[in-house]
Amino acid sequence: MKTVYTNCRICTANCGTKVTVDDNRVINIEPDKENAYSWRDFCRKGQTAHESLQHPYRLTSPMRRDGDKYVEATWEEAITDIARRMLTIREQYGPDAIAMYVGNPAYYASANAFFATALLDGIGTHNRFGATSLDTNNWHRVNQELYGSPILGLLPDVDECKCFLLIGMNPAASGLGWGWTVPNGWRRVLAAQANGADLIIVDPQRTASAEKATTHLAVRPRGDWALLLGLLKVVFENGWEDQQACALLKDLDVIRKLAADADLEDLAIHCGLESDVIKDVARRFALAETAYCETHTGVSQHPTGTIGEWFQHLLNLVTGRIDKPGGKRFERGYVDAVALWERLSPAQEIVTRVRGLPATAGYFPAAELINEIVVPGDGQVRALIMNAGNPVVSAPGGNQLDAALESLDLLVAVDILQRESHRHAHWLIPDTHFLEREDLFTLISQFQDMPFVQYARQAVEPNPNVREAWRFFTDLALAMKAPLFGKRGFNTVVKASRVVAKLLGRPLLEFNPRWLFRALVVSGRRIKWKAILSHEHGWMYGQKEYGHFVSKGLKTPDGLVHAAPSVFVAEARRLLALPPVDDATDTFILIGLRHSHTMNTWLSDLPGIRRKKKYNDAEIHPADAERLGVDTGDLVRVASRVGSIELAASVTDRVRQGTVVIEQGWGSRVFDPKGTSEAVSFGVNRNVLVDAADLDPLSQMPALNSQKVTIERVESASVSSGDRATPDVTQHPNSIPAS
Ligand code: SF4
Repeated sequence: MKTVYTNCRICTANCGTKVTVDDNRVINIEPDKENAYSWRDFCRKGQTAHESLQHPYRLTSPMRRDGDKYVEATWEEAITDIARRMLTIREQYGPDAIAMYVGNPAYYASANAFFATALLDGIGTHNRFGATSLDTNNWHRVNQELYGSPILGLLPDVDECKCFLLIGMNPAASGLGWGWTVPNGWRRVLAAQANGADLIIVDPQRTASAEKATTHLAVRPRGDWALLLGLLKVVFENGWEDQQACALLKDLDVIRKLAADADLEDLAIHCGLESDVIKDVARRFALAETAYCETHTGVSQHPTGTIGEWFQHLLNLVTGRIDKPGGKRFERGYVDAVALWERLSPAQEIVTRVRGLPATAGYFPAAELINEIVVPGDGQVRALIMNAGNPVVSAPGGNQLDAALESLDLLVAVDILQRESHRHAHWLIPDTHFLEREDLFTLISQFQDMPFVQYARQAVEPNPNVREAWRFFTDLALAMKAPLFGKRGFNTVVKASRVVAKLLGRPLLEFNPRWLFRALVVSGRRIKWKAILSHEHGWMYGQKEYGHFVSKGLKTPDGLVHAAPSVFVAEARRLLALPPVDDATDTFILIGLRHSHTMNTWLSDLPGIRRKKKYNDAEIHPADAERLGVDTGDLVRVASRVGSIELAASVTDRVRQGTVVIEQGWGSRVFDPKGTSEAVSFGVNRNVLVDAADLDPLSQMPALNSQKVTIERVESASVSSGDRATPDVTQHPNSIPAS
């Protein structure tokens, strides 16, 4: 029996964990209460992480598709065959015919992220699609335009804040972090509130967070941008700007004019709130001693998401909330990732082949993957590596994407399990679980709300036939003679290290990602590598500091914040010209929510994660339910222009009238690749309702939180009650049985 102190790598809270291991099996996971920074958010997802680690369907060797079943293969067979097929495709159709989709778990595995890029650079393809285009692209786009870097993080300074304006987020369920880490953030907000801080929560639902708010504003979905512009307008009209902060803003007069031209009553109708409410919130926010505003997926997952995010940044900027106590702070970290990005990112803007959509932070939008696979022409995607992703369920247009994936010449899935998006894979490549590998998140040290570092330790040894994804990407690059990172010499170093390690019988001399982690730590010149390793519970290596935003964060050539990018201004004016409300009574706006025990599509397929309710349902307001003749438990059909699903209704006054709330991430199947058992699935994939063509024109984010749908009753509760955990294979017309 041994105890390993490490951290959970399922979400950005990165809780410190104490893992008990017996005979290389994890038997218990609990919070590491000696962790210097993060453990208080510890939740059931982290507690049951060994369910996926020890899942009976775990991929334990490479598997090759043979007709309608999979057969085990050696690594050499896998790499040789995949390399050969990719080289043939590249020779025939060019490098862009090979693509990768990067799912969320890959971003929580540093070595994976590094070497996926190394392989793609070596192949020479631009076709990289990422899950960030489903939730945070708007944030990257705003950062790029305003501050000159898509990855600049401005972190909430929670403990000093006297007025929180939190929009489209439910921190009681999902924590206060988004791309960043704010451990125990929600409880810290509540502690500040208990000490007199104002807590304003904007959300169409009365969430668990909203129930604690001083004021809850049930905004109209897609209307957040109008609320935020209204707040700016009131701030300008009353002269509540911070003049010193405004001196840093280029083209502020353009923003003033935009706000002046907007009519507050129109904005109030757009966002579904009274104009007096907007005035009151503006006053409370602008006049508070300290304050910050933050927007998450409730704002981002709309076609108006970038404009909403932009106005949020402007509100913080003009009221002087950046780089100040209680506002938004730039953490310099121990590796300057913002500077590294500036040095290493491609100078040229790249766009998708079919619709000319730009890449954001290096990745094309997931919603565009279908077109890039099915539309013929030069650069059409013919081979795809699905890197820890499940876009058939997490992205819009799942049915069309499923069919597109089936048409590929080569689909390689790299994951710990065979999920919904992998069912047409020609090769299944087994990756390690995070408890089977070590890690150091060097590139996100600027996203910790305090200077903190922890070397994440490996808890158990993986099956000898399972390899880390970085190793697969490296071996594939070597087999293809593709220069890693697109640079000559790297392949030689890797190969030479392997020869030396073998000759001397010292496996640790073989190249591994630690070399890279260490080099990055040394390059940061702030902390020592050995000191990191010596703190098994993590290490607070400094104090919270202010004043680094301009000197270290801001990357615009003139050193100013570019407050009014012309494309943003034009899009805002287009929104202002739209009729304020679509009052069609026969349609609803589909929005989402998250519970503390779910995380995108990762975990809803694990039996232990949610003991009582293993399915999602459609939550509607009592007045809407009465109009539709629907009761709780009735089977309803929810339909959009692109798809329909059937699921149970749940009538609750927590939901705003005219909206329907259905949680995302359900309805994904996990297959038994050996074909001896049935696929496992819970709930329904509601993203088949979302139109992949309805994108935010600035960030290419789909309307995952604002799709128009209709609802009708199919069966009453007495008829429809049954086993809702049964997979609805009718959603997947090309479905094949797993066995
Ligand atoms: S999933 Fe839960 S335990 Fe894991 S890091 Fe996130 S909050 Fe912590």
